[in-house]
Amino acid sequence: RSHAEKFEFQAEVSRLMDIIINSLYSNRDIFLRELISNASDALDKIRFLSLTDKTVLGEGDDAKLEIQIKLDKDKKILTIRDRGIGMTKEDLIKNLGTIAKSGTAAFLDKMQKGGDLNLIGQFGVGFYSVYLAADYVEVISKHNDDKQYIWESKADGAFAVAEDTENEPLGRGTEIRIHLKDDASEYLEQDKLTELVKKYSEFINFPIYLWASKEVDVEVPADEEAEEAEEVSDEEKDEKSGDESSDEEETESKPKTKTVKETNWSWQLLNEVKAVWLRSPKDVTDEEYSKFYHSLAKDFSEDKPLAWSHFSAEGDVEFKALLFIPPKAPYDFYENYYTSKATLKLYVRRVFITEEFDDLLPKYLNFIKGIVDSDTLPLNVSREMLQQHSSLKTIKKKLIRKALDLIRRLADEDPEESSDENTANEDEDDKNDKKGKYAKFWNDFGKAIKLGIVEDATNRVRLAKLLRFHSSKSGDKLASLDQYIARMKPKQKDIYYITGQDREQLERSPFLEKLKKKGYEVIYFTDPVDEYLTQYLTEYEDKKFLNVSKEGLKLGSKEEKQKWKQIKESFKELTNWWKDVLTSDKVEGVKVSNRLANTPGVVVTSKYGWSANMERIMQAQTL
Ligand code: ADP
Ligand code: MG
Repeated sequence: RSHAEKFEFQAEVSRLMDIIINSLYSNRDIFLRELISNASDALDKIRFLSLTDKTVLGEGDDAKLEIQIKLDKDKKILTIRDRGIGMTKEDLIKNLGTIAKSGTAAFLDKMQKGGDLNLIGQFGVGFYSVYLAADYVEVISKHNDDKQYIWESKADGAFAVAEDTENEPLGRGTEIRIHLKDDASEYLEQDKLTELVKKYSEFINFPIYLWASKEVDVEVPADEEAEEAEEVSDEEKDEKSGDESSDEEETESKPKTKTVKETNWSWQLLNEVKAVWLRSPKDVTDEEYSKFYHSLAKDFSEDKPLAWSHFSAEGDVEFKALLFIPPKAPYDFYENYYTSKATLKLYVRRVFITEEFDDLLPKYLNFIKGIVDSDTLPLNVSREMLQQHSSLKTIKKKLIRKALDLIRRLADEDPEESSDENTANEDEDDKNDKKGKYAKFWNDFGKAIKLGIVEDATNRVRLAKLLRFHSSKSGDKLASLDQYIARMKPKQKDIYYITGQDREQLERSPFLEKLKKKGYEVIYFTDPVDEYLTQYLTEYEDKKFLNVSKEGLKLGSKEEKQKWKQIKESFKELTNWWKDVLTSDKVEGVKVSNRLANTPGVVVTSKYGWSANMERIMQAQTL
């Protein structure tokens, strides 16, 4: 197109497209799912705008919120069309080429490490998967605020955008013309398309139609001549109406008909719109929940969600919700923790409103995927007004409670390794499969629970119950605080812990010598976040947490204490001299200690100072 403006793809996008178009990936079908998912998102957007302004929908066919698929076998073009929000010229340039999303680099990285292309949607670059099946793509789009534009690219590093003056006006929405690669003609078979939509797009909330042919039986006159004769006689009949004799002749020659196949073209509906969350939990199978999770989370791995909770809340604020714990943490969950977006989809009376309400769950639960659908919230107000609606607070409270219940249930029902201990010569993956679901959960989401303990004072106790750790008595298994308390020595008042880089290092720590000898259990906190955790989690079940590497550790009875006081006194001269030698800005004091068994001396952190481990972490952060 001579009047087109040419653009270069952003570098990472270009690399991604290169990989995709040259990929030998066998599961090319996924592009259809990605494009339908985009069409559905675009329809959600226009439907949301129409809640406060009906005119945005237009009239007649334009107002129909649907997706249409057409096949052109001669030209080898598959077309997917939606009546969604559409894209302005600027949208086309930005969204389909010049802006790299945060997921682009992450996905490239994954792909280089042999990651699965199937997961492309989770990284926010699903559109480009179209080049698995196409070598040339045209995107025609009409947004209410702009003229109709056409975007095109052969995935050769560049794309072009021009005002579209050659195609039929779309009214509103987007049409994607996929010029299929020579070896991708399977996507021109209507049976294949029907099967794929059923398989991948089961939970799309808008009707998906395929322009399809059907063989139908029709009755026709027995032979060609008879047909022709009839046609002629019909015309003649009009002309010479009233000619009785010819009429009689005709009725005698009937009825000689036969059945033939005729091809009928029509829009065939491929999906049922299923709102799983509105059904009664007893009518939904595990498989349906699983599939729904995959489509909701754009997580098309083989892994099933770890657990889910499907419930309805009644009372002042009514809503239905379906929450899932994913099988794995999202790729950027901890990296982008403080800027992470909410992952719950909010619906009001079945209409999708937003997935960007930060107010539905606190940050540390942002790994939970799900849907909330409320009848109490108003439909015809702006997002901003809705965000301030008083019911949201109640919804949030209930959602947090339900999410924490769900996690606790997982911990209770499927705690750790399976009872089958016969794992000696299995590799890591097999071992991982044998792990209980909660052990898997803890592996991926333990850090989130710890951040919750730091950030959510209201639920701190509930979250502390979910905490798991290794200790001097846990062996290879994980222990909980409740187990720790059950194992406490009769007169033990405090919960002992130590922080450090890893278990092996801590196991050898001189700080533990005496405690171990006396049979006390010491928790090993080895995650950097544990240093923060222990600043906030100071008590559990009326027991204080005590860092055994800090001063203030008191072991033994009253008599022993007396004895120690005397010993300390008698060594005063030595300890004072020592402190002077080390100069007073290097140490706060030198003391005789009863905490060691074999090691002659240790450096201890003051009670309110940073632990040595925290010093290490802070240094790592500032360097
Ligand atoms: P994601 O859907 O995760 O945002 P994609 O790569 O699938 O990532 O799509 C990129 C962007 O292109 C979308 O966010 C959207 O803004 C735009 N887009 C793609 N398809 C359509 C469409 N059918 N209608 C309107 N906008 C679309
Ligand atoms: Mg998408």
